[in-house]
Amino acid sequence: MLDHTQSVSPAPTLTVGRQLDTLIIGGGAAGITVAAMLRSKVKGSIAIVDPADTHAYQPGWTLVGAGVFSLEQTVKPEASLIPNGVEWIKKAASAFHPEQNIVELADGTTLGYRYLIVCPGLQLDWGKIEGLKETIGKNGVCSNYRGDLAAYTWECIQSFQGGKMIFTQPPMPIKCPGAPQKIAYLAADHLRRTGKRGAADIAFCTALPSLFGVAPFVPSLKAAMKRHNIEVNLRTTLKSIDGPAKKATFIVTNADDSTTEVVRDFDMIHVTPPQSAPDFLKGSPISNAAGFVDVDQHTMQHVKYRNIFSLGDAASSPNSKTVAALRMQAPVVVKNLVAAMNSNTGTASYDGYGSCPLTTDYGKIVLAEFTYGGKVTPSFPLDPRVPRYSSWLLKTKFLPFLYWSVMLKGIDLDIGHKEKQFADAA
Ligand SMILES: Cc1cc2nc3c(=O)[nH]c(=O)nc-3n(C[C@H](O)[C@H](O)[C@H](O)COP(=O)(O)OP(=O)(O)OC[C@H]3O[C@@H](n4cnc5c(N)ncnc54)[C@H](O)[C@@H]3O)c2cc1C
Repeated sequence: MLDHTQSVSPAPTLTVGRQLDTLIIGGGAAGITVAAMLRSKVKGSIAIVDPADTHAYQPGWTLVGAGVFSLEQTVKPEASLIPNGVEWIKKAASAFHPEQNIVELADGTTLGYRYLIVCPGLQLDWGKIEGLKETIGKNGVCSNYRGDLAAYTWECIQSFQGGKMIFTQPPMPIKCPGAPQKIAYLAADHLRRTGKRGAADIAFCTALPSLFGVAPFVPSLKAAMKRHNIEVNLRTTLKSIDGPAKKATFIVTNADDSTTEVVRDFDMIHVTPPQSAPDFLKGSPISNAAGFVDVDQHTMQHVKYRNIFSLGDAASSPNSKTVAALRMQAPVVVKNLVAAMNSNTGTASYDGYGSCPLTTDYGKIVLAEFTYGGKVTPSFPLDPRVPRYSSWLLKTKFLPFLYWSVMLKGIDLDIGHKEKQFADAA
């Protein structure tokens, strides 16, 4: 309620520094893809705002952590990926003024736009786990969620001489929700292959109530955990970590929803940090209550501001936050944006597709593909719940090529996925 004795100050009028036809916030997987697709379809200026020097193929970091890829294989200079005809503004965005079609930048300057695409990804909240910032990257505390730390994961796995290994998964949202368990399987398999498995106790501790969000894949993953002799602890959330003392404290939610604090010793711990919408999006006029850009989950168009679109990890659409998802979202955004530019209502629709190649062993992958509503939608005519070498080849050879040479070049290659029912699904 307003107190009528108080005066309401009008929104500050900002001076627009420069005017762009299409402005893209974030030049990660989503930003580069959508810029490259758009460039060939529309006239007018397009600019990407991103302060980063480098661009990473983050799905490769699981393989960096397992010694299959080098870190260098997953990183390129951002400048080398900006599509021809697209301007790169090497700055950070800091605030949105959608009523005035203005984005504020961290250096205090502003940019005006006719159309805006917002895709700055997810923020890693290392500080939400007490003690983590102080010890990450040393004392056997590693994480595949940052490239340099993924290289340290491999160092830890290789030098492991026995004792306790823990792999953690925080509450949602996180990008690639399968990644925290992928590295657990690969670590166990590496120890088996090098004759050290007997000397290791391995535990997977996840805040979630199940191993995976799409039920038909759960039995295959339970079987993989059993085969690798990994102890699974559900509803178990990492609270704090003491690196030098090698102790991790977890909050365990019991069956009656009461909680118990449990301290576990470790010799190596792989931590997946809590994640959230970037701080500059939280509380902004274009975001929902959780801080994600408030879009229609099918059209990827903003629910209120029709000249704003979003895709990738920063969008509010309830899909699994993956490159696989934004690869399907990008053509939808482009079609609906072009329709909006022509004063039409876009009808292109994203079905919630996401994919997670779960590395159950070196050389074996359960290729989970699914859409909204937990429907299993494989691209290939094989049972996707079975770990396969062909899916390993897909992940290690084809998908990196698809990313760098097809998707980031703006080529829309959709092999097509189709719903498949499983009578024996859990
Ligand atoms: C370990 C790991 C394993 C994964 N495995 C897979 C997998 O197997 N399959 C899969 O499909 N996906 C996987 N993913 C997820 C995938 O990498 C992400 O979903 C994808 O990168 C999201 O793309 P994005 O463009 O939304 O965000 P990002 O690629 O993270 O890019 C965000 C960009 O925004 C920029 N930015 C941030 N803040 C600002 C700002 N204020 N102003 C301007 N720019 C800003 C950043 O510099 C960055 O360039 C994995 C991720 C990780 C970490």
